[in-house]
Amino acid sequence: MSDKDCLFCKIIAGEIPSEKVYEDDTTYAFKDINPKAKVHVLVVPRKHYANVAELAAADPQQLAHMAQVAQNIADQEFHGAFRLIFNTGIDAGQTVFHVHAHVLTGEKLDE
Ligand code: ADP
Repeated sequence: MSDKDCLFCKIIAGEIPSEKVYEDDTTYAFKDINPKAKVHVLVVPRKHYANVAELAAADPQQLAHMAQVAQNIADQEFHGAFRLIFNTGIDAGQTVFHVHAHVLTGEKLDE
């Protein structure tokens, strides 16, 4: 299940380059092109869901797995500390409508 006009579907398919951090059968993680922290990784499901609520309703295990992938990245980068953000909806700043977890880590984050 993918969307031919979706930027992140194209990244997952390798049609647009990305800096891969992690991948498995269901999940892909890559560096954000415009980092907001020392380490800023996007964790996405290979399947296309528009936002976190749609994903949670359809496949809660996938959402849980993404949280674990984020934890593993933070374990490697910053003794397990990280911020996990899902911008949801245009008015919350979502610009790419393929659900993605922003993982911010690698340094002490502002409160
Ligand atoms: P926002 O742009 O407000 O952060 P989102 O939560 O939808 O909105 O996040 C989309 C993220 O995707 C942004 O952080 C942006 O920098 C990132 N991004 C856009 N294009 C690419 C790309 N080609 N490779 C990596 N990251 C990208």
